[in-house]
Amino acid sequence: MAVDERVVQDIVQEVVAKIKISAPSNSGHGVFDTMDEAIAKAKEAQKIVRYMTMDQREKIITNIRKKIRENAELLARMGVDETGMGNVGHKILKHQLVAERTPGTEDITTKAWSGDRGLTLIEMAPFGVIGAITPCTNPSETILCNTIGMLAGGNTVVFNPHPAAVKTSIFAIDLVNEASVEMGGPDNIACTVEKPTMETSAIMMKHKDIPLIVATGGPGVVTAVLSSGKRGIGAGAGNPPALVDETADVRKAAEDIVNGCTFDNNLPCIAEKEIVAVDAICDELMKYMVEEQGCYLASKEEQEALIKVVLKDGRLNRACVGRSAKKLLSMIGVNVPDNIRCITFEGEKEHPLITEELMMPILGVVRAKDFDDAVEKAVWLEHGNRHSAHIHSKNVDNITKYAKEIDTAILVKNGPSYAALGFGGEGYCTFTIASRTGEGLTSASAFTKRRRCVMSDSLCIR
Ligand code: NAD
Repeated sequence: MAVDERVVQDIVQEVVAKIKISAPSNSGHGVFDTMDEAIAKAKEAQKIVRYMTMDQREKIITNIRKKIRENAELLARMGVDETGMGNVGHKILKHQLVAERTPGTEDITTKAWSGDRGLTLIEMAPFGVIGAITPCTNPSETILCNTIGMLAGGNTVVFNPHPAAVKTSIFAIDLVNEASVEMGGPDNIACTVEKPTMETSAIMMKHKDIPLIVATGGPGVVTAVLSSGKRGIGAGAGNPPALVDETADVRKAAEDIVNGCTFDNNLPCIAEKEIVAVDAICDELMKYMVEEQGCYLASKEEQEALIKVVLKDGRLNRACVGRSAKKLLSMIGVNVPDNIRCITFEGEKEHPLITEELMMPILGVVRAKDFDDAVEKAVWLEHGNRHSAHIHSKNVDNITKYAKEIDTAILVKNGPSYAALGFGGEGYCTFTIASRTGEGLTSASAFTKRRRCVMSDSLCIR
């Protein structure tokens, strides 16, 4: 599915004009006062899911997909209204992507050996009730995508969503339960608490009925989950560099990188956060970015002013995350036309606006003397997250070298970062990319445990 920026802008305008509705009142499926209650209800539901056929699970998932499509505009609007981050048009596309490209039960497969001594299977079995922690950057996208995969694997799930996105998260949880009930499945396939906090998260992490915790968020939460003593899937922070070498189609690289960087105002963890360009094409790249791709070239003074606002007192200012370039510039007293969608400048790799994971459309460019220097700088900027990186090059040896050195879960070549999620690229979608614990792009199979089932000396019929 290719993303054309003009199409996206049209959708944004159409949706903003169309949606005058406030969020519907929530019927509250799956929402409880306490974490203990939420886990108990999810456990009851899992006992039913456990004995459902794969076909029954898939019918519920099909209904979840339908409901996501029907509510994509509303969910997008709610996410932007509640968090103040991102933009409606891109969030609609993200929800459509979840509906269409998140793997379901087809991801649950069996491995078999048969021979003289019988038949042995390895099957993907449910863990039970999964505890999931979700971010404010893609709140409903993550909840809906996680639920589809976890249910396909025969689990139910208890979410501890980010407090800044609780309404949107609860709405998504309500939706999946409605989808289940409508198809004859149980209520509470996904549960949560009305007021998620660090305390409710801690209760979940310690609870005896939670065998697996899936955390999507920054480094703090992943470390907390991995210290819990339980099995953990940790989908943590990134700082993806986009490397451009002298063999690249430089004009296209400028377009792809800015499209990827500005998608949902740079909220996706996979989105281009900085560029490393070899000296031979660096000026040309920046020229295309400024002249053709709506980038605003920030002066030294403007960069200093941005640092003061964006990294207020040395900490990432939440009021800037996921905001548009126009909004960020207005915060430092610079007014720009609507076609400005990104802020750029050239700087050293240690520049605070380059080295920090900002999650806003600020795209610093680091100049490298040659390809080897570019690889070294990009690896440094990725900070060992081993999350995502991107390259624009026609030289397969360069691409191979970069891939080996940077060692990330995602590496997009010659396209915008969102190709890794299935937009304009092959493959399935996820909003939980577990680089730190090695599952990579999670799907239903990642939420299952392997069980061996052995029939001794029979059922081999060849
Ligand atoms: P965040 O870390 O502030 O919050 C994420 C979740 O973790 C929230 O529910 C929050 O309440 C909880 N949390 C935070 N610290 C915790 C702790 N010590 N113990 C228990 N729970 C804790 O992140 P955010 O601002 O919501 O999201 C942005 C961050 O998440 C970025 O770093 C981004 O790269 C990352 N992210 C990663 C992925 C991925 O798939 N790898 C996807 C989305 C976002």
